[in-house]
Amino acid sequence: MTVSTRAPLTRPADAASTAGAEAAEIAPKLAGADFRSAWRTLLALPSVSAVMADSLRGEVGDGAVVNAVGVIEGLGRAGVPNGLVYALTSQIFGVQWPLSASARSPLEPYRDGLLDGSIVLCHALTEETGGSDPLSMRTAATPTDDGYRIDGRKAYVTAAPEADLILTFARTDAARHPFALSSFLLPADRPGIARSEPFAKVALPEVPMGAIDFTDVAASDADLVAAEGSGLAFLTSTTTWERALLMGYAVGGMGATIDRAVDWLRDREQFGRSLGANPLVASHVADLATIRHRVRTLVYDMARRIDAGTAISALATDAAQVKISCAQDLLAFESAAAPLFGARSVIADSPHAGQLTTAVAASIYAGSNDLLRVSIARDLGLPVEN
Ligand SMILES: Cc1cc2nc3c(=O)[nH]c(=O)nc-3n(C[C@H](O)[C@H](O)[C@H](O)COP(=O)(O)OP(=O)(O)OC[C@H]3O[C@@H](n4cnc5c(N)ncnc54)[C@H](O)[C@@H]3O)c2cc1C
Repeated sequence: MTVSTRAPLTRPADAASTAGAEAAEIAPKLAGADFRSAWRTLLALPSVSAVMADSLRGEVGDGAVVNAVGVIEGLGRAGVPNGLVYALTSQIFGVQWPLSASARSPLEPYRDGLLDGSIVLCHALTEETGGSDPLSMRTAATPTDDGYRIDGRKAYVTAAPEADLILTFARTDAARHPFALSSFLLPADRPGIARSEPFAKVALPEVPMGAIDFTDVAASDADLVAAEGSGLAFLTSTTTWERALLMGYAVGGMGATIDRAVDWLRDREQFGRSLGANPLVASHVADLATIRHRVRTLVYDMARRIDAGTAISALATDAAQVKISCAQDLLAFESAAAPLFGARSVIADSPHAGQLTTAVAASIYAGSNDLLRVSIARDLGLPVEN
């Protein structure tokens, strides 16, 4: 990972406020828009465009990662739908930054399309037969005279139905060992690649999820993201980035929910007084603020450490702890927030509709919480295996 040695960039003092101000006008229009047009609208915001460019340079330092977390917070705070903020956070931290920081910089030829949103990326790892155990994957890259032939199916992949460029993983060795997997970056229009229709999903609905079939797909050495056999190591880098920072997607939305709760509880009357005048009700709002503060602090701390040049590999265990903690906190937050709005929290088109399934999803993606617990315990010295 390269730490920037350029002269300091001029960054807005408060990235979240600047991005929030830019997004305020477009946010209400994004809720019903189709994914691609919403994505392009989002990427046209100057703050977002600058973060995209930073991530595609692959350099950290000079506050670039903290700035990115700030911009993402600002978007959520301004009301950009959760699914879009999640998709952006995942693409920036889980794909673009690690790929651009890698020795081969494989995204370089796609830079312009990624910046204007005409190219969308996805990270295709999970298979129907199992996501928790990558070494069990069935997708295989079989050697041919001029490279590989890839066959298999990935599923539950964020943005897959829209993706133009696919980061994927396939076994290049049938045996089960740490060097059995390789990582490939493939254009979605390569013959033999078929993307599914979007799955009907109940979490983060603003970004589609789907499957990708690979049938006799020709790949060459140039499609390898890193040396053959280093797929698991590269995956460790993308997932550590994600575990460290992905939950930052929720910080702005939590702030917006707290604002809504305060307005609602101040105005809503029960028992002849404002609901917010009831100490029990008010204490729940204080809990929401405390939870948000905890998530925000953990994610920004990770961003600062990455900007300071800490190797991603040295952050794996801390990132796992941050991911577990933030996922649990998001669930606690949504569980506490929903009842404050009464019946409105279960009405789909209410501005107060709850986000509980979206919160549950956080304990599943980017490494399920239980599997991360196992790695943390192993790191502490317990002889535990999945
Ligand atoms: C919103 C969302 C977005 C996603 N985006 C992507 C994406 O972009 N790309 C992608 O590739 N995948 C994505 N996924 C898929 C996700 O990575 C997988 O769902 C996850 O890895 C779990 O795999 P699985 O669903 O096959 O469950 P399984 O592997 O079948 O696991 C089911 C449950 O069993 C538990 N479990 C399994 N083994 C053990 C064990 N040994 N000890 C204890 N518990 C165990 C797991 O923790 C899990 O809770 C996404 C999922 C969600 C919900």
